[in-house]
Amino acid sequence: MTAQVVVIGAGVYGAAVAAELRRRGAQVTVVDSGAPAGGTSGATFSWTNSNGKEPRPYHDLSVAAMEAHRKLAAAVAGSDWYHETGNLEWAADDAELARLRRKVDSVTGYGYGARWLTRAEALRLEPDIDPAGLPADGIAYFPDEGWIEPARLVGHLLAASGAERVFNDAVTHLDVSGDRVRAVRLASGRELPADAVVNCAGPEAAGIAALAGLALPMRNTPGVLIHTAPVAVAVGRVIHAPHVHLRPDGGGRLLLHTHEVDNAAHVSDSGETSVDPAAVDEVVAAGRALYPGLAAASVESVRVGVRPIPGDGLPVLGRARRLPNFHFAVSHSGATLSVHAGALVAAEVLGEDHSAELAAFRFERF
Ligand SMILES: Cc1cc2nc3c(=O)[nH]c(=O)nc-3n(C[C@H](O)[C@H](O)[C@H](O)COP(=O)(O)OP(=O)(O)OC[C@H]3O[C@@H](n4cnc5c(N)ncnc54)[C@H](O)[C@@H]3O)c2cc1C
Repeated sequence: MTAQVVVIGAGVYGAAVAAELRRRGAQVTVVDSGAPAGGTSGATFSWTNSNGKEPRPYHDLSVAAMEAHRKLAAAVAGSDWYHETGNLEWAADDAELARLRRKVDSVTGYGYGARWLTRAEALRLEPDIDPAGLPADGIAYFPDEGWIEPARLVGHLLAASGAERVFNDAVTHLDVSGDRVRAVRLASGRELPADAVVNCAGPEAAGIAALAGLALPMRNTPGVLIHTAPVAVAVGRVIHAPHVHLRPDGGGRLLLHTHEVDNAAHVSDSGETSVDPAAVDEVVAAGRALYPGLAAASVESVRVGVRPIPGDGLPVLGRARRLPNFHFAVSHSGATLSVHAGALVAAEVLGEDHSAELAAFRFERF
């Protein structure tokens, strides 16, 4: 009998899980309360990496996920959502440099690609950087990292999957009897019978788990993303400079971020999100100091995304032991992880054993 699976959420995780379930022959309905990639997957820095991901199983999962992106992109003509550009990172002071050195030592000890560049070498990669913005040496280069365009990836995965898509209709109830979820009920009144349910609701994953009677601890945090208008500056890769992180964003746009600017996001009592413009100006000024050509760039949009972070920071993946047909695919770093981790979760839904890869990420650890 063909399994009927309901996937809740159409971000990178929901799309990846649905695509793999369909590839394996399941009937799939993907439900989203909004539009696909309208959640965190539409407001993310989406840097693909295993850059300081600890402990070791998390590093290994991330490396496997980077390889899964590479393979998918190679297999699909016109897969322009994947950009394996490399990443440059340097430090503002000795303490940060010591931290960076420890990180590079740790990841190279795992066999991960990382090497040190001088200023002259970095400028050959990024000729539009103001040389005064770079240290003489001690610039870490991670050649296998890059970034993705999540909306294009989600669009591809959903379209290629052939899954039924239900958008702008929220999951409001799960019918649970005994140790199984029997059906998913939507705000519209529609009821979807289910042999299995996958919780891919990102920052709302705790709410969906609660509908199944499960307590998933989450410590979500907001993040501010600054998108410029198109500008003719040669930013070729992911850049982690001391006061600004940036990368290309398609069509000549750039995406700017720092962890400091995240504190400038405010949510009002009525739920309106705003960002302190002075904090945005500071990040843009840091970008312009590094790439003087950015002086010609205006800010096109400022978005706030919510990082879906499980309580201990690690992904929550796979079957809930107490409710064996209810599955999780929830994590931060989902832009990196989702294609691979989503495929593992989908395989487990359909009975394949991935207990070794998923052991460190089970819901039951909470
Ligand atoms: C500022 C910032 C920077 C980041 N940087 C990186 C990075 O550099 N690298 C990286 O790998 N990751 C990064 N991330 C994290 C990454 O973007 C997320 O892990 C990933 O996008 C999560 O995808 P998702 O599919 O789980 O969630 P989402 O994209 O949020 O999808 C969940 C979907 O569920 C839907 N939903 C919620 N409730 C319901 C309901 N009741 N019924 C139906 N649908 C529902 C939502 O509408 C949403 O579309 C970053 C995130 C942020 C915010």
